[in-house]
Amino acid sequence: MIRKDIIDLFRVPLGKKVRLKDYNPGWKQSEEFKDFGKDALKERAKVILDENLVNLAEAQSLLYADDRFAVLIVLQAMDAAGKDGTIKHVMSGVNPQGCQVFSFKKPSAEELDHNFLWRYMRCLPERGRIGIFNRSYYEDVLVVKVHPDFLGRQLAHEKVGKKFWEARYEDINAFEHHLVRNGTVILKFFLNVSKDEQKRRFLERLDRPEKNWKFSASDMAERGFWDDYMAAYEDALSATSTEWAPWYVIPADYKWVTRGLVADIITTSIQALNLKYPEVTDERKLLSDARKKLGAE
Ligand code: AMP
Ligand code: MG
Repeated sequence: MIRKDIIDLFRVPLGKKVRLKDYNPGWKQSEEFKDFGKDALKERAKVILDENLVNLAEAQSLLYADDRFAVLIVLQAMDAAGKDGTIKHVMSGVNPQGCQVFSFKKPSAEELDHNFLWRYMRCLPERGRIGIFNRSYYEDVLVVKVHPDFLGRQLAHEKVGKKFWEARYEDINAFEHHLVRNGTVILKFFLNVSKDEQKRRFLERLDRPEKNWKFSASDMAERGFWDDYMAAYEDALSATSTEWAPWYVIPADYKWVTRGLVADIITTSIQALNLKYPEVTDERKLLSDARKKLGAE
C-alpha cells in the first residue's frame, strides 16, 4: 500500500491554477525508497504491484456484493502515455463481471447531433461495478479545444470563446456532481508523460513490427500541438478538480509507477467507503417466524 501522503502529492488541489511543470513525469521514488538501487527498486515495485492487485480484487468484490456504489474511472492522456497498459494491468486482477471498459474515439455523426455528454451518459457504470472511460467527455474540452472545427454543427450557432469553454467545464462539474450524489465515486487520472518519453515510445512503435499497428499518422500531427494540449489540460484540470471528483496527475514516464499509483488510488478510494458484505438472512428463521405469525393470527 502506497502511503496516503504520496497519493496526496498527485491530487490536484481545489481552486488553484494547475501548472503542469510543477508535476514531474519522471517521478519514481518516494523518500522510503531513496537508497534503493535500480534492481532493488524494480523488485520492490513488482511486490507493490502484486500486492495492490490483491487488494483491488478484494475491494471490487466488496463493491459488487454491497451493490450501493459504482466507481467511474476517467483516464486521459497524450498518445503513448500508457492508458491501455494501465487498464490491462489494473483490471488483470478483478472479476470481469464487475467491471466494464469503454474507449471513446472521434464521435459519429449521430453522436455529434446530440449534446456533448450524451454518448458518455449511456456508458456509465451501474451500482456494484467499476467502469473505465478510456478517454471521456474531457476530450470535448481538450482535443476539441485544440481543434474547434471538431465541434461540427455546434459551431454554426455558438461563438466559441472563453465563455463557451467555461460553460462546458461548468456542465461537466454539474454532471459529475449529479453522479456522485447518486452513488458514483469518480476518480480522474491524467497520465502525465513527458514529450521526450513520448518520442521514445513512438520510435519503439516504429522500430518494432509487432508494435507498428499502435502508431497512427495523426499521432505525429497531434504531437505538433503539444503546447496547445498542455494549455488545454491545465485549464481543464484547474476548472474541474472538485471536492466531489478530484483529478490526479500521475507520473507516466515509468510504466510501473503509473500502474502502481492508479491501482492504489482506486483501492484506497473503495476502501474509504467502508463497505461490508451483506448479512445473509437465515432462511429457516424466516420460515419459522412466518409460521409463528400465522399461528398467532
Ligand atoms: P486512440 O485512443 O488512440 O484510439 O485515439 C482516439 C482518437 O479519438 C484520439 O485522437 C482522440 O483525440 C479522438 N477523440 C476522442 N474523443 C473525441 C471527441 N469528443 N472529439 C474529437 N475527437 C475525439
Ligand atoms: Mg492512439
